[in-house]
Amino acid sequence: MGASPSAPSPEQAESLRGGVDEACARAARAIGEADVLLLCTGAGFSADSGLAVYADVARVEAYAKRGLQYHDICQPHWLESEPELFWGFWGQCFNDYRSTPPHEGYAIIDGWADRWFRRTELAQKIRQKLQAPRGADGGGSEAESQAEQLPLEPYVVSDAAGAFFVFTSNVDAHHFDWFRACEIRECHGNTETYQCTRGCKGLWRAPLDFRFCVDATMLAPAGEPGAAIDAEAAEGAGAVMKSGGGEPPGGAAARPRLGHVRGGGRLTTLRHMPGPLAGAAGFGASPLKRASEANHPVCPSCGAPARPAILMFGDGGWLDLDEQEKRWFAWADAACSAAKDAQSGDRPLRAVVLEIGAGGNVPTVRRTSEDRLHRFGESGAMAKLIRVNPDLPLGDRDEYEPAGEKADCIISVMDGGLASLRRIDAALGALWPADPRQDGDRPGPRPGPRGRSGTPAWRGAGRGAGGAGPGRQGGRGSSAGPGRGRGRGRA
Ligand SMILES: [Zn+2]
Repeated sequence: MGASPSAPSPEQAESLRGGVDEACARAARAIGEADVLLLCTGAGFSADSGLAVYADVARVEAYAKRGLQYHDICQPHWLESEPELFWGFWGQCFNDYRSTPPHEGYAIIDGWADRWFRRTELAQKIRQKLQAPRGADGGGSEAESQAEQLPLEPYVVSDAAGAFFVFTSNVDAHHFDWFRACEIRECHGNTETYQCTRGCKGLWRAPLDFRFCVDATMLAPAGEPGAAIDAEAAEGAGAVMKSGGGEPPGGAAARPRLGHVRGGGRLTTLRHMPGPLAGAAGFGASPLKRASEANHPVCPSCGAPARPAILMFGDGGWLDLDEQEKRWFAWADAACSAAKDAQSGDRPLRAVVLEIGAGGNVPTVRRTSEDRLHRFGESGAMAKLIRVNPDLPLGDRDEYEPAGEKADCIISVMDGGLASLRRIDAALGALWPADPRQDGDRPGPRPGPRGRSGTPAWRGAGRGAGGAGPGRQGGRGSSAGPGRGRGRGRA
């Protein structure tokens, strides 16, 4: 009970599983009528691409033999005590992530963002709030003074998010294939960015053609990864998984892997992660380029061991990407500020938090979803949390639990992420068929949903319990008209 995730009772689970279609229909209506969409993703979202989750790590033979589970492996102390083990694990994660395409769910959500949340009048408003001149802590002069050393930021973000944002605990950086860098907050970092272990400030990116050499026992020997890969290929040892997913001689058993990666090639790799600052040091800067491309990378500035800029367990040395965190908080503030502005308009702002695959092991994402739901409500928005989870789809806080006073703010979809997204997308397509006139560069007001209104998504979703918020609670009255208040004041 309370703030920690609780599994549904057997009766609740049966009812939730039987009601998945209806829950997806409600979710579709909520998203289709929303002004703001915040996507919050956890490990379960990556699992649909075949990437490893907690339990998969323990199934790796090399770790099982030593009794090592995810929690044991994912610790920074291995870098000093057993660098081959440390880089074997993180190198294999890196290789798996790099060779695995993000599943279709990313494209589905990107389509919603493009159609309804990036180019609206509200998106422009939020963008303007974000692009207003900042104070003296903009970081520009600091970045310049550091340019001879390491870039403070591994990539440059010059644009700002609209009415769509992503908060994730996943470290695979797959969100950069589909969402814009200005829209992404990774609260645990990612495997694409590296940091010094001796205190140099700044992060740098791995080159796009880089791969670690990891042997069949999940160890990464010191040396040059490129040479090691070539040598293995020549000998036919095949211990390193090639992108494209071909089986090495000896079959799958000879191939190191985590999770259920299928390979198949990743054609969209990091296409929305901008390049590094011009002239900045890092993986791509010579003459230190080779040193930093070793199978055990080192800091290009001081030569100390490098490490992935990822928050591990028992980790006091992680360097968060501060600018990314600032962008997230600024966006959250701007979205709430827009909700407050809307209180003086003809209807409250509608905000949806869509959470997918966030479990209870590390509840950061679940807490963030509910915190944002709460803050949207406090700011006068009508807010919903769609929680997609095959095991823990209920609200955690007392007020959001099934018997809680704000239980109707939660739409629980008890199923996997990708399967649910396909259902929701199909329902959205039926309610709002694609219209090229609407989906151009400057979309007009979104018309009401087609056909019968079905279960209203926003009933009772206003501020506080008992529908005490401003009018038009159900929004049903607007569903027949073209306006719904979106795009007010436009021609
Ligand atoms: Zn250093």
